[in-house]
Amino acid sequence: MNVTVVGSGTMGNGIAHVFAQFGHDVWLLDVSQERLQTALATIEKNLKRQAEKGVLPAEDVGAVLSRIRTSTTYEKTFLEPSELVVEAATENPEVKFEIFRRLDELCGPQCILASNTSSISITRIASQTRRPEKVIGMHFMNPVPVMKLVEVIRGYSTSDAVCAQVMEISKALNKVPVEVRDMPGFVANKILMPMINEAIITLHEGTAGVEEIDTVMKLGMAHPMGPLQLADFIGLDVCLAILQVLHEGFGHPKYAPCPLLVNMVTAGKLGVKAGEGFYVYTPGSKELRVAPTFSKK
Ligand code: NAD
Repeated sequence: MNVTVVGSGTMGNGIAHVFAQFGHDVWLLDVSQERLQTALATIEKNLKRQAEKGVLPAEDVGAVLSRIRTSTTYEKTFLEPSELVVEAATENPEVKFEIFRRLDELCGPQCILASNTSSISITRIASQTRRPEKVIGMHFMNPVPVMKLVEVIRGYSTSDAVCAQVMEISKALNKVPVEVRDMPGFVANKILMPMINEAIITLHEGTAGVEEIDTVMKLGMAHPMGPLQLADFIGLDVCLAILQVLHEGFGHPKYAPCPLLVNMVTAGKLGVKAGEGFYVYTPGSKELRVAPTFSKK
């Protein structure tokens, strides 16, 4: 299948990796050559890691990489024959709306347009195009080559045929697709984000410290990672943005982001990517240290 992936960041490079791994020809699109080079280097590193672990035959690494071509411009030459586009660009409605208007112009009428958005309404994205029945959510999880789930989100007008096709495409990538309706947060984030928010509220109220809260959830509920560490991994800005979508979308105070989360985002303490959130992160070190603000005096 001819697949185009728009956006080559954390998610886009993983999505391109998985499609190419399962034999599809991929065009990977981003705004700069530098980002594309970084993405290709990440894909190569991750493919080699899979080969070391025996997930992929070592001799396949080169073949998988050769199936990925890159572009910094939206060209009809590769978009017209694309059968599926998966958009994984920055989580900003205006950016995504503009991308979908362009894709709708340039892609052939057969092409399914999927978005990997975590929180933006698929129905709103679809309304930017003249093919809302072919617009769908394909919400991969991070890291894409490892995580099995794909949340398949049906917009208001998504056709049964397109939904069935995307479920099959996902299964053929060795993923487990789950079909859900287009509601704020879909299923994954509607349940996960209030839990993370509640963990932050619990910290803010002084009921327990960072490590204590994470330990309760790891050892008591068999979560592989505590909610505060997970929030750092996702990015606190991303958590805040999704909570705001839930709060606005359902209008219920239970989704109101904890003031501590708002303050941390304002202060730039965004988690792993900023080097500090609830924990501090030192490049090259796996040691988990509670951030000075939260360590016991
Ligand atoms: P990212 O910031 O790592 O990557 C986004 C990429 O999109 C960047 O490389 C940027 O240059 C590119 N981009 C921006 N505008 C573009 C345009 N007009 N055309 C082409 N490329 C463009 O972000 P990410 O974490 O990979 O997230 C991408 C999407 O996936 C978002 O919608 C996000 O909500 C969703 N998502 C993220 C995660 C996660 O854990 N990071 C998980 C699930 C879903």
